[in-house]
Parts: sequence; structure tokens; C-alpha cells
Amino acid sequence: MKRYSPESDAQLHDILIVGGGIYGASMAYTSALNGLKTVLVEQDDFSQHTSANSQKVIHGGLRYLQTMDIKRVVESIHEKQRFYHLFPHRVTPLPCMLPTSGFLMKGNEAFRLAFLLYAIIEKLVCRGKLTKNLHKRPAILSKKEVEKRFPHMQQEDIRGGALWYDGICLDPERVVIALLESAARLGSKVANQMQVVNIERTANNQFAVLLFDKLSQTKRRIFTKKIALCTGSWFKDELGLGSIPQELKQLSLIRGMNVIVPSLFTSATSLATKVTKNGRSRFLFIVPWKDYSIEGTHWEDCIDPAEPWSDHQQTANNFHDLTQEAIAGNSQQAKIMSSHVGYVPGHKNDQTMASERILPHYKLVDREDDTAGDILQVVGVKFTTAFDVVKRSLQQLFPQEKIKDILEFNNLPYGSPASQPKALFLHYRQKYKNILSYDHCTIAFQIFGASLPELVNNYIVPLAGNEEISETDFYRGLTRNCVQREMAHHLDDLVFRRLFPDTPSAIPTALLNTLAEEMAELLQWTTTQKDFEISQVTKKQELCL
Ligand SMILES: Cc1cc2nc3c(=O)[nH]c(=O)nc-3n(C[C@H](O)[C@H](O)[C@H](O)COP(=O)(O)OP(=O)(O)OC[C@H]3O[C@@H](n4cnc5c(N)ncnc54)[C@H](O)[C@@H]3O)c2cc1C
Repeated sequence: MKRYSPESDAQLHDILIVGGGIYGASMAYTSALNGLKTVLVEQDDFSQHTSANSQKVIHGGLRYLQTMDIKRVVESIHEKQRFYHLFPHRVTPLPCMLPTSGFLMKGNEAFRLAFLLYAIIEKLVCRGKLTKNLHKRPAILSKKEVEKRFPHMQQEDIRGGALWYDGICLDPERVVIALLESAARLGSKVANQMQVVNIERTANNQFAVLLFDKLSQTKRRIFTKKIALCTGSWFKDELGLGSIPQELKQLSLIRGMNVIVPSLFTSATSLATKVTKNGRSRFLFIVPWKDYSIEGTHWEDCIDPAEPWSDHQQTANNFHDLTQEAIAGNSQQAKIMSSHVGYVPGHKNDQTMASERILPHYKLVDREDDTAGDILQVVGVKFTTAFDVVKRSLQQLFPQEKIKDILEFNNLPYGSPASQPKALFLHYRQKYKNILSYDHCTIAFQIFGASLPELVNNYIVPLAGNEEISETDFYRGLTRNCVQREMAHHLDDLVFRRLFPDTPSAIPTALLNTLAEEMAELLQWTTTQKDFEISQVTKKQELCL
């Protein structure tokens, strides 16, 4: 994927997508599949903000049965289905357990009924199509079974537990990059480190958009018929468009933090549990993720995300202590590995807790007062909903076109295996056994999936020939791939979003130096620049960010 340069680009694009998080990336791929001339720009790195920092749960929608919101249940099943189908190597079923303590509508009986209803809806929705990994059977667990899975849970009066299956997206950063790479392969123009600073109407009713290229420090204008602002927490940026619509003005930002710790349970089940402290009850959701547990989520109002968070560390510690009390007593303190912070839109109100004011569903807002809806602000609330929301956005922006859902195309995103991921891994393991050790093959497959042969042919073989590649050269090869094909411009991009999104704080200094050396050579950094890049990464590692 070559970085788009707007220099002397006089083409009139069908759509400009602003923002390279999950919403922007899924919109770029969907619009490219639908044959639209697409350009996407991201002001920082792809997936650098909220999309990398969610709890990664692909919700199946069981919770909407509480309010009998069948429409949302159906939507959620479709959403889960899309993720399983598009990313079979990155999304796996996530068993979730909620302890039950009451009777009838508060206890096991209510869950039994909900599970039955959900199974019927799921069957009707899927109609036997693309159902792999769906239809995992929910169950009611006995008190003994709950205690076996979660022996340290500090909750008395448990009657049993309700167990159902959502999904978990293992590497959201990789999902975003794969979607962008796929869009680029279909002819879309894609760039990171490129900010939209101003949008204005031209005389012939198109848009002239001023872009600031952060790498070359230059400004260029490009032209487009429609604009989708997938700008996440920047949804109130004015961008030269005049007044902000009332619907957006009414929203505020709510900041969420998840804390990552080494695995808390031997069971790979996530736990939803209620805790009460200082007279206030809240839900904790502890999710197994690779070798870690994600403790989630602390929510609070946020006036300005640009302001550094002075008590970030303290907030992480307090939230972690609360979780530990709920599940392990004080005897088993696990060390915080990192904390993930992101933003969701919510309603202003000082009376209720921030978590209760998160917007329940997405919003599509026309950003101009007096036009036919050519510029749309896409305000997403869930990672999971992205494909559905972008289809609706495109249908709204292009009412004359027949915009199709991503599942109506036969394409899979770049790197997604068409066959069983496990079988494909074993095939690559056999094929490249002279060049890649088992560990290297595992790491490379996790990162690149079915595009591993391109990595080997273009970046590993040139360094190793047909011999087994050394540890240093392996990481040099990965670095070259990420710099030359995935637009990594900083060491931070490489470490936090391309190679080690799950273990950034654990990579040894020697390896960090190898990566920095390679990037310095490729991007012609001076020694001062290289040292600065290393210092930025180590600072984040020390702060567990
Ligand atoms: C703590 C937390 C936990 C969550 N857990 C879950 C979960 O388990 N499951 C789930 O489904 N959802 C979850 N979510 C919600 C989900 O993460 C978000 O809804 C989703 O990631 C938002 O994606 P986005 O693309 O809209 O925003 P972002 O990822 O923030 O992307 C927006 C991008 O736009 C760019 N941008 C902004 N302005 C400009 C400009 N002028 N020019 C160029 N680029 C610009 C930004 O740099 C940014 O990269 C969670 C959210 C939080 C905060």
C-alpha cells in the first residue's frame, strides 16, 4: 500500500473519508468494493486512537433481549457474522459468564428463556449461511461450575451462572490495516499523517478540501463530491464548515480506560460481575485476551482529550484495585502491564454516572444546514457496528447507487485466510520450515495471516536466502515490510500498532534498538532522530500506556 500524495492530484473523487480508525477503514473498503473513487486520510497513524483501545468484544446482542429490542439483536448477530467471516484468524468465540443470584426474572430461569429466544433469532437470521463459529451453545452453570472457573470471586449468594458466547477481536489494529490495504488494492488512495484542515464548497457544488501533510509539512487541496467524517472523538471539529449542528453540540465525550494485566484466570471465560463501592454499583467485565486479562471499563466525563490526563496512573491503579477486590481478594495482586484509553460520545448530565450516559447507538449527522446531505458525520459507539453503519452512511450519501453490504461481495480482506486458519498455518510451517523457525512462523502468521508468503518472498528471503533466518534479520524483515508497505513512519507506529500491539511494554532494549536501527536506515534518520524515537517509545513503556 503506497502512501497517497495529493500533490498535483486534480481528480474529482467520489468520496473523501476522514479518519483511519475502524469506521474510516471499513468505509474505505466498502466504498472501494462498491466501485467508488475513494480517498482516505488519517491525521496520525491508522488505528492510533479509540479503535486500538477498546475492550475488543464483538457483542452478539444478547443484552438487547432485556428490553426486547429484537431489531438490535438481529443487527448484532449480523455484525458478529461479518467479523467472523471477514477475519477468521483474528476473531474467536468469547465465552462470557454472569453469576446469577436471584430467582425467576432475575435468575437462571430468565436466562434460560433468553437463550432459547436468542437461538431462534440467530437461526432465522443466519439461515444456514456463514454460520461457522456462531451457534455456540449457551448454558446455565451450577454454583460449583462457577466456582471452578472463578475460584477467587468475592461474590456471595451465587446460585449459578449464565454462560453465552460473544466474540473477541484479537488485533483491532491489524484489522484496520488489512481493510485499508484491501481498499488500496482496489484502487483507493490512502494516507496517514495527513490532516483535513478545511472544507469548502466550490462554485460547481463540489468540495475543495485542504490537507496538511505532516511528513512534508505542506498543504494541498483535493476535490471530492461527498465527504464522510469518521473522525471519532473529533466529531465536533469545525473544519471550516461553519456552525456545528445542534445534534452534535448536545453530545459530550466520555473517556474509557481498560487495564491490561497478566491472565487472571486459568479459564478462558470472561466474567461480568457487579461491584458496589461507596454506595454505588457498577459492572466490571474482565475479558481474556491472548496471555492477558483486560479489566474494563472505567468511564468518566472528559472535557478536552487534548489535555494530558494528570492522574492517569492513579486512575488505572484505583480501577485495578477495585477489580482485584472483586475477583481475587487482596492476596493475588497482578501487575499492570498497560492501560488503554479511548473515547465514546455520550450525554451531558452531572447527576448520573458517565457509564450510564454513553450514547446507546450510532448517529449519522448531516454537517451542512442547507444541502442535500453531501457531508456526513459518522458518530460510532461500538467497534462491532462499523460495517453496518458505514453501509447505511454510504446509502445515505449515494442514494442513486445500489450500495451493497460487504458480505454480498466474494472478496476477503487482504491477509484473511479463505481456508481454516490452523490448516493454513501448518501449510506455511511446512513450506517455510527451512527459513522460519516455529516461533518466527507463528509470530509472522499472527501478524500477516494469509499474506505471509509476500512477507517471506519480499522481505525475508532477500535477507536470509534459503537458510533459517536469524532473530535480528527476522525483525529487520518485518520492519521493512511495515515501513515500505504499511506506512510506519515512527518507531511508535511499528511497536504499538504493527508488531507488538499486545506486548509493547515487554520488548527488550536490544530488540528495540534493532528495530530503530532498521527504521533509521530506511527513513534516513539522523542519530538524534533515532534516539528521540527510542525515547518516545521507552517513555510510553515505562508509563504502561
Ligand atoms: C474503553 C473503551 C472500550 C470499548 N470497548 C468496546 C468493545 O468491547 N466492543 C465494541 O464494539 N466497541 C467498544 N468500544 C467502542 C469502539 O472502540 C469505538 O466505537 C470505535 O473504535 C470508534 O472508532 P472510530 O473509527 O469512530 O474512532 P477512532 O478510532 O478514534 O478513529 C477516528 C480517527 O479519525 C482521525 N481524525 C480525526 N480528525 C481528523 C482530521 N481532521 N483529519 C484526518 N484524520 C482525523 C483520528 O486521528 C482518529 O484516528 C470501546 C470504547 C472504549 C473507549
